[in-house]
Amino acid sequence: MRRRDFLKLGAAAWLAGCASPGGVKPKARVLVIGAGFGGATAAKYVAMWEPGVQVVLVDRGREFISCPISNLVLGGNRSMRDITHSYDGLRKYGIDVLNGEAVAIDSAKKLVTFGRGSQLVYDRLVLSPGVDFLFSEVEGYEAAADRVLHAWKAGPQTVELRRQLEAMPDGGVYLLSVPVAPYRCPPGPYERACQVAHYFKQTKPRSKVLLLDANPDVTSKGPLFKRAWDDLYKGIIEYRPNAKVLAVDGRAMTVRTEFDTVKGDVLNVVPPQRAADIAVKAALTGHQVLSTLHTNDAAGAITRLDDMGIEPFLIASSVLMTCAQRLVRRVCMNCREEFLPDAEMFEKLGLEPKKDAVFYRGSGCDRCKGRGYLGRTAIIEALPVSEPIRRLIIKRASAAVIKNQAVTEGMKTLRMAGVDKAIEGVTTLEEVWRVTAEDR
Ligand SMILES: Cc1cc2nc3c(=O)[nH]c(=O)nc-3n(C[C@H](O)[C@H](O)[C@H](O)COP(=O)(O)OP(=O)(O)OC[C@H]3O[C@@H](n4cnc5c(N)ncnc54)[C@H](O)[C@@H]3O)c2cc1C
Ligand SMILES: [Zn+2]
Repeated sequence: MRRRDFLKLGAAAWLAGCASPGGVKPKARVLVIGAGFGGATAAKYVAMWEPGVQVVLVDRGREFISCPISNLVLGGNRSMRDITHSYDGLRKYGIDVLNGEAVAIDSAKKLVTFGRGSQLVYDRLVLSPGVDFLFSEVEGYEAAADRVLHAWKAGPQTVELRRQLEAMPDGGVYLLSVPVAPYRCPPGPYERACQVAHYFKQTKPRSKVLLLDANPDVTSKGPLFKRAWDDLYKGIIEYRPNAKVLAVDGRAMTVRTEFDTVKGDVLNVVPPQRAADIAVKAALTGHQVLSTLHTNDAAGAITRLDDMGIEPFLIASSVLMTCAQRLVRRVCMNCREEFLPDAEMFEKLGLEPKKDAVFYRGSGCDRCKGRGYLGRTAIIEALPVSEPIRRLIIKRASAAVIKNQAVTEGMKTLRMAGVDKAIEGVTTLEEVWRVTAEDR
């Protein structure tokens, strides 16, 4: 069922439980709100694992614009086209991808109402709406919204912020503020500072990146970023910790912190964040909620919840599944050639050397700019919380113990998922090693 059918059918048909186009009533309908990484992944795996189930994925956007790499668009190294993807890949799994904004959930009737009054019934609901910004916590933010951007969701703001950076004269100040943690993508602001500094260094070297951090120190990969700032961007990036932005003034182009008022030529103020509104409403009424956390693997997400002060019995009774994902580069299909990785690589990955298996790599061509890789794909580790794992959570078992149990029950680790993709010829073992070298 395509978007126009959704609109044509209207509320009545959806409420009636809506037979599928072939006239066969599906076993059940799983409705997923939010088609970002979280929702799209959930929809894909439900569709793969339960072919008889109708999976409907609804997002307020018509295409997916990826936040990772959006900092490179600001730095001038990638275009919006590189980070914009259609949902057609998901439709191939039989998922009905629709456009709409969920505004209310009635858990008793299992019914979601969308912006224009249309409604959908569901058997199971997955909510994955990402974050909302707490604009009201920064005085003057809304009034300054036409000039002061966050660009913390990739999209039109990314384009506009890039335009502002291009228009800024040499010698100007680009001010980037980091909100109090937790916020989406801890290393993101520091990466952005590097990208913009890289751009300045090449085109307007007298300009400055002023990083105002509400936190006492760099919240992620501190030593790495500080080394880069020292080695590569000395005199361009200035870092100020404990500098929470309290107010912005879009006319004067200033921000106020507890200590002083600072002027900038481009103001990039990232407001504090929390789980998106619809998820908060749903969680309060006892729904299933999908959330993203910053951990190394699927088992780590469970122990992270414990670290966050959530009681183990609550984690054990409420978490259904955790997933981890990483990106590996895809072998360029234009210059792909057969190749036998050396024995050492098999050993490092803990694999039996496979004499008969065929592996591939890209030899490098114009299309992949000699890299041998073109595009990226995700490797995913999915950990369903089984009864034995529930008991381990209650006993506060370590992430390693939980992971072992999951593997015993058949879970594919990130590395195993990566090796599968290397065997399929989608990526290389070198690439799998690159992204999983530090995994236990
Ligand atoms: C600048 C930047 C750089 C980043 N770099 C990286 C990186 O290198 N690596 C990495 O792993 N992560 C990175 N991240 C973080 C990553 O982008 C997020 O963790 C990820 O996008 C979260 O996925 P999600 O599916 O939870 O939410 P989202 O991607 O935000 O998706 C939520 C979706 O729900 C939709 N939605 C919300 N409410 C509704 C509603 N009521 N009705 C209908 N639809 C709704 C939204 O339109 C959206 O499409 C970066 C983030 C930023 C901002
Ligand atoms: Zn190539």
